[in-house]
Amino acid sequence: MTNYYGYMGKVLLLDLSARKVENYIWTDLERELYIGGKAMASKILYDNLTGKETAFDPENLIVIATGPLTGTGAPSSNRFDISSLSPLTGITSSSNCGGNFGHYLKKAGLDALIIRGKCDRPTWVEIENGEFRFHDAAGLWGMKVSETQDALQKALNAAHGKPLRCGMVVIGPAGENLVRYASVLSGERAAGRAGMGAVFGSKNLKAITAAGDAIPGVYDREKAAEHRKKWVNAIRSHPLTGEQLPKLGTAGLVSSMQVHGLLSTRNYAKGQFEDFEAVSGEALAEELNLSNNGCLTCPIRCARRVPVDGKAVKGPELETLGLLGGNLENPDLEKICRWNYELDELGMDTISTAGTLAWAMEANEKGLWKTGLAFRETDGLSQVFEDIAHRRGIGAELAEGSKRLSEKYGGRDFAIQSKGMELAAYEPRRAVGQGLGYAVANRGGCHLNGGYLVVLEGLGLNVNGQTPRGKADFCMFMQDLMESISMGGQCLFTSYGVLPGFLLRRPNGALTRFVNAVIPYLGPAVRVLNKLPEIACFHLPLLPYTKELSYTTGMKMNIGRFIRCGERSYNVERAVNARFGVSAENDKLPKRLTDVPQDPGNPKTRVPLERMKKTYYRARGWGKNGLPSEKKLKRLGIR
Ligand code: SF4
Repeated sequence: MTNYYGYMGKVLLLDLSARKVENYIWTDLERELYIGGKAMASKILYDNLTGKETAFDPENLIVIATGPLTGTGAPSSNRFDISSLSPLTGITSSSNCGGNFGHYLKKAGLDALIIRGKCDRPTWVEIENGEFRFHDAAGLWGMKVSETQDALQKALNAAHGKPLRCGMVVIGPAGENLVRYASVLSGERAAGRAGMGAVFGSKNLKAITAAGDAIPGVYDREKAAEHRKKWVNAIRSHPLTGEQLPKLGTAGLVSSMQVHGLLSTRNYAKGQFEDFEAVSGEALAEELNLSNNGCLTCPIRCARRVPVDGKAVKGPELETLGLLGGNLENPDLEKICRWNYELDELGMDTISTAGTLAWAMEANEKGLWKTGLAFRETDGLSQVFEDIAHRRGIGAELAEGSKRLSEKYGGRDFAIQSKGMELAAYEPRRAVGQGLGYAVANRGGCHLNGGYLVVLEGLGLNVNGQTPRGKADFCMFMQDLMESISMGGQCLFTSYGVLPGFLLRRPNGALTRFVNAVIPYLGPAVRVLNKLPEIACFHLPLLPYTKELSYTTGMKMNIGRFIRCGERSYNVERAVNARFGVSAENDKLPKRLTDVPQDPGNPKTRVPLERMKKTYYRARGWGKNGLPSEKKLKRLGIR
């Protein structure tokens, strides 16, 4: 039970081995400290994992967590998180998804579901109004994602004698066959990163469905409605969330990345792709976009629908375009749309699949691992994807990811990963703050968990991407801010609104140029805010999240508390990962990015990582080992 609104007041622990469900105690104090979503999941993992478990160990937990805004109608608020020990990185990881499962999990009466143990045979689990039913999934095993979803919907409709509105999370063959970067799908949206699908597969868990009639309450409906109206208007009038994303999707960033030398090309050997126009957001919009689409309650609607085999299916995001495009030197947009669909159907992360392939192409070229895979020669890749998902032939090895392959065959310097997770499509040698973020990100080479400084270094503002000045402080600030946004259940793309629209509309205006020039020098001011966020005991129009949380939950919230929650989340995740051996030693990038200048004539075009790391750890109040001390954890209320 809870005294706060927005929550359902129930967290359940499902033991698959014993087929038993019990209440998990989650108090209002914990709600105040961790809000929900990923932060809540990290604390649950922190409280339950000892450091001895491995990803495929039945004792590994899966935590599916919603935020208090999920299901309340707040803008872009239906995201949910799946967290677990990752088979790709060996440490805890979280994958955020925009599908409708979070919404329906709350309708079923739950804020979060914790899963432990292992089914003795392929199983799918049905949750309805807090009741659990276990079903044999032998007939579903081997099915691709949409076939599975159709079969489940049919079974539920038949059992209820009428069409049932429900949410579901399912895995495809990649998850069943323990591909280390297998994803979990909810509708067409993927919890793509870190191999959460393989953890499902290791537990013989093919799918979970959720349905029910519960509705989360809202503390102050009138104020919440008024606030949401204003917020939606602000989203719709912002140049990124109101124009670029609806018009071109995230794919619209390809052109900016090309201009700034940030577009991963040829396994990150370069930051510009000569055929970038063919795989740009503009090309996608003109040639293949059938319609826009979006997650529930989202006014941005950044998703695309594209044709594949006469069907309208989900179009590729920026990361997929960059990594299956320039990074493989592939200029064929139709192929990327097809592969994107095929990978979703197999239940496999497009980023890690593409990153692993790019490594294999270079390893083949250098004679380290002869596979026949080659840049630009992409005709047979659909078959390679099938082989990975079913662990056949070279697919069995590609299913292990680029880090493990490079440890076996050599070529670590060009395995573009951090902590075992392949990097997203932003080449960081001309955006060194983004480079720092990739290296220190708790879950590995993730652009978002890393703080997404590339938005300041070329994709929104145009701050000098080569200077390390101020980047460590901004990195911490942005990481904590994104954690906080995610905790409520909201999409991180809403954070673009933090950048004042008038600056983005006039990229070459005197004021924008002044702001770009000054930002690196604001590091000390940001450091003060990072250390003492409580001084910001107010709301700000650029950060509507705090008022939204206050009106929806009834919690006392302001900017300072909000940022502190983000910091707490980042630290608790780091602390649990420390049990699995993470330290400063693991905050690394491949040598290609730190030692080899992108422009051979300009030695500055590389990531000065070690220097930035030291400032970053100081900013975070961590030791030289890159870890929070006991004192720090106590001060944050984690211990
Ligand atoms: S911005 Fe895009 S990803 Fe985010 S909630 Fe909206 S449609 Fe989903």
